[in-house]
Amino acid sequence: MKRSSKKSTLSPTVAQTIPFVSQRNVEPPCQAACPAGVRVRDYIALIAQGRYQDADSLIRDKMPFSSACGRICYQPCEAECNRALVDEPVAIMYLKRFVSDYAYQTKLPLPNPVAKTRAERIAIVGAGPSGLTAAQDLAKLAYTVTVFEASPFPGGTLRAALPLYRLPKKLLDWDIENILALGIKLNTNTALGRGFSLKELREEGYSAILIATGADRSRKLSQPEIGVFAIGDSSFGPMWTVHAVAAGHQGAVSVDNYVQGKSTMPAKANHALVAKREKGDLEEKVFQGYIKPKPRAAMPLWGPLESIHDLVEMELGYSEEVALQEAQRCLGCGAAEILEAKCTACLTCVRLCPYQVPAITPLNTVEIRVERCQACGVCVGECPARAIAFTMPGIEDLIPQIEAALEAKPVSKTKPTIIGLYCSYWAKAGPELIKERFPSIRMIPLLCIAKVDTLHLLKAFEVGAHGVFLVGCEEGDCSYQKGVFWAKHRVESTKKLLAEIGLGRERLEIYNLPASGLEQLAGLATEFTQRIKQLTPSPLKNRRQSNDRRKTKATV
Ligand code: SF4
Ligand code: SF4
Repeated sequence: MKRSSKKSTLSPTVAQTIPFVSQRNVEPPCQAACPAGVRVRDYIALIAQGRYQDADSLIRDKMPFSSACGRICYQPCEAECNRALVDEPVAIMYLKRFVSDYAYQTKLPLPNPVAKTRAERIAIVGAGPSGLTAAQDLAKLAYTVTVFEASPFPGGTLRAALPLYRLPKKLLDWDIENILALGIKLNTNTALGRGFSLKELREEGYSAILIATGADRSRKLSQPEIGVFAIGDSSFGPMWTVHAVAAGHQGAVSVDNYVQGKSTMPAKANHALVAKREKGDLEEKVFQGYIKPKPRAAMPLWGPLESIHDLVEMELGYSEEVALQEAQRCLGCGAAEILEAKCTACLTCVRLCPYQVPAITPLNTVEIRVERCQACGVCVGECPARAIAFTMPGIEDLIPQIEAALEAKPVSKTKPTIIGLYCSYWAKAGPELIKERFPSIRMIPLLCIAKVDTLHLLKAFEVGAHGVFLVGCEEGDCSYQKGVFWAKHRVESTKKLLAEIGLGRERLEIYNLPASGLEQLAGLATEFTQRIKQLTPSPLKNRRQSNDRRKTKATV
């Protein structure tokens, strides 16, 4: 894999602190089953669009030991995955491993230190998964955090209990580097009771102390007192790292609450509606051809005996091509969500949903029946009150992506600025090849172009695009019922608006092409570029004229 030069549209800080939407009442079952709260569906959607850096950042926010958890987790998420009702669960753990391997191999930049704007200092005792997770959370909350570890190296049970052919130490080190880069101080060879005592820590001015050395030691704490917290760690085996991480998150919440003078009990969990799909409904979609059964990608293996002998990993990890295909098996469960405060019950979604998912409740409100939603996105763009959120990266953050693409340096001063929005399901070639094949066009992937709405397209022109085209599957290949119809409908409505505001309908185009019709697109993109060049006399003409004037002056 090549080193990534792509600027992430989702900085680590954004991924850590801001949910994709302000209201999120529906949760996919994979995420609901993850003890650490990893946003499984969303990172899979980012992988499916080739946005690996953003996926890595999103995973690490809740699972800082992603290299380990991508290898040895007991996968409660996969046990709940809706895709199992079609064929087999999505390979969630292997996809996580793909992203963390990508981050390591391409040496993605480490996160920047977080400015310590809080005056309080926090001591954490134990640098295992729970201690370091709590350290990460508290550092992100702008506290000064110091971790004390009795052994010479951090990592706890992950370092001590896993053989090299299950988790290479360099990957564990990489996970820990990502955590410490936030500005956390680590003191190794410093054992509680030998190198220092709790009393000394309090005298040194630590506002709170979190003991994360395991249940045994925490039980021995004679009188836990206000300001000293204990969480388990070493009582869990490596397989259950995810529970140690969950304990770390809870510990960080308790410490933060204590320092802020709130109740130290973590806030009551907000019970979201879990988007468990109906087996019968999925079988119907398979029968109708909207979901194509596709077995889960197998993990390529190195000979087990050789791996033990050579102390190298037995499982080789997915290639990029396999990871993209596996990520695209995800059904995007629970993505469409009604924003009740905005809904005027106009029933547009009830009329237009190709799958008859929205329904009128006995209270005369509208609900999206999550057990049947196909996540096609049609209702989102058609709702006149904009009362339906689509809570998946790619659509939810399409406008920032468009803005970021337009901020990039122009490839050529003489070429118009063109945005190409392409369907990831169509572009089997993968994002790197697309970027190489169309170097002068700002290509943005998304999961089906029927999810793009008029506001996205107008925004692209507002922030400086001279032309925009969309590329997606042909009728019959699209994963969604009426996907091609709705994408064309949106483009046509936007063209009308462009004509009305005097920009001209020719600046927008849609191409529905056979799968991997890259060569066909190359010809169409060249034609489109020529067309836009002719339509954009002012900026290009002015620039050329001033260049010409400069050249003439220099000659004189
Ligand atoms: S299909 Fe995707 S969103 Fe649905 S449960 Fe499985 S991984 Fe999660
Ligand atoms: S239109 Fe698509 S996204 Fe909206 S409710 Fe129907 S299936 Fe779900």
